[in-house]
Formats: sequence, structure tokens, C-alpha cells
Amino acid sequence: MRCPICTHDSDKVIDSRSAQDGRIIRRRRKCLECGHKFTTYEAVEQPPLYVVKKDSRREPFQREKLLAGVITACKKRPVAMAAIERLIHAIEMDIYAAFQIEVPSWKIGEYVMDGLKQLDDVAYVRFASVYRQFKDVEEFMDVLQALKHEQPKRQPGFGRKKRNSRKPKKEELPLFPRTAENRDASSRQNPPDAT
Ligand SMILES: [Zn+2]
Repeated sequence: MRCPICTHDSDKVIDSRSAQDGRIIRRRRKCLECGHKFTTYEAVEQPPLYVVKKDSRREPFQREKLLAGVITACKKRPVAMAAIERLIHAIEMDIYAAFQIEVPSWKIGEYVMDGLKQLDDVAYVRFASVYRQFKDVEEFMDVLQALKHEQPKRQPGFGRKKRNSRKPKKEELPLFPRTAENRDASSRQNPPDAT
């Protein structure tokens, strides 16, 4: 690595440690010519992943956005930041394992809901209520009931009773709802859709 001070090309690694959950290796180096110490970072090269939104627009996958959504759902809940970090990491692993170039936003929402369900019931319901855009209190109560009776996982609608209300298709479910009626609620519970 070229020394940023004397531009000499020989250095010695004096310290090496992993950062960000092992995704990054941070190295302290010392220039053998002038003794200047500097830091380099090494990370796995990952092809950019795009999130396909319900209107078919694509945007780069943003870890920060995912994290912000989960933190908001867990606000004032007894959920440790370390647990949230682990959840985000697990979701990222799932996403990168199953999708190489593009991932539908609804799929990310499903991962988050599955994870939150294990972590904290209230956080789960909060996230689900924004994500699934409950139409009324009754629909909301159905989800609570289902949670109470612990329905089998991954059941479409999370054990919601069959009703006449229109059930949105998965493709129509955005990670962060944008409809006017939900905007107020979602801006409080979720970060705004940065576009
Ligand atoms: Zn130097």
C-alpha cells in the first residue's frame, strides 16, 4: 500500500482486526520509509443488490433503511440493540443467499416480520400494521388474535380469518407504504421512503 505521506511502496501491518460483524477488516499499517501510520479497510466485493418496489421501480438495497425500520418498530421495547443488529444481519444473509441482483420489497418485509415475530410481539404488530396496511380495527384484531393463538408461521395473512375485505396481493405490498392515508402513520413508524 502506498504511503499517503511519502508515497513509498513498502509498509508493515502492525494491527489487524475485524469490524462491522466481520464484514470489514481494518488494518493499521506503518510505512517502512517514513514511519507514518495509516489505516486501510478490506471488504468482500458485493455486486449491488436492487430492491424492486411495488410500482416496479428499482432502488439500491440500503441496510440503513432496513435498520431504521426495525429500530422504529422496536422503539421503547425491551429489545437490545445487539439483537436488532443480529436480526438485520440474518435478514441480509437471507436476502443475499436467495437473491443475487434484485429482491422484491415485499420479500424483505416478510423477512422482517418473521424476525420481529421471534423478537417482540409488539414490535411485530407495529411493523405488520404499517406494512400490511390494515384497513380497520377488526383486521388489526385478527392479527393480534392470530398472534395470541400462535398460528403456524408463514401462513398467508398470518392466520387472519376469512373475511370479505380485499386482501392485497403480495406484489402490492410495499415495504414502506406510500398511500396518503398511511403516510402520517408510516412517517412516525417508519422512515420515509427516500426517493
Ligand atoms: Zn511513508
